[in-house]
Amino acid sequence: MTDLPRIGLGIDMHRLHPGRPCVLGGVKFESEVGPLAHSDGDAVLHAACDAVLGAAGLDDIGTLFEDTDPTHENRDSAEFCKETMALVHERQLRVWSMDIVLETERPKLKPMRKAMRERIAELFGVDVDRVNVKGKTGEQVDAVGRGEACRATVVALLGPA
Ligand code: MG
Repeated sequence: MTDLPRIGLGIDMHRLHPGRPCVLGGVKFESEVGPLAHSDGDAVLHAACDAVLGAAGLDDIGTLFEDTDPTHENRDSAEFCKETMALVHERQLRVWSMDIVLETERPKLKPMRKAMRERIAELFGVDVDRVNVKGKTGEQVDAVGRGEACRATVVALLGPA
């Protein structure tokens, strides 16, 4: 293991359905729609785990936590983060910083950005000023723009613990 920084990229998308609970970035939103998935569908935390796992040279989230496994049904994605960080710590690494883009028409993200940053910082063991969350809409283009889905893209930088 060298002391050079390691970068990882994660992308995740979930359909939005009426009546589903809406948890994004580990934060519960009041929303008419929520992500449809086997787990709680938190696209932000899924993409964040994949970015961190990728940087650490580990298997991706879909391999580690298979969506056919009944134990993951409606599972709180915070648990995926905790298991991801246990693997990262085993490799004597830690998260240095994380930059996140969340694209969705609904819910409105601005009021919850601070809460998302704080929760993500807590889950990945990084200072809150090293986690950024940017909200974007889809400008009526593609599934995001039509309000059918949300998509998260995350870049994570890791270094020695
Ligand atoms: Mg996912």
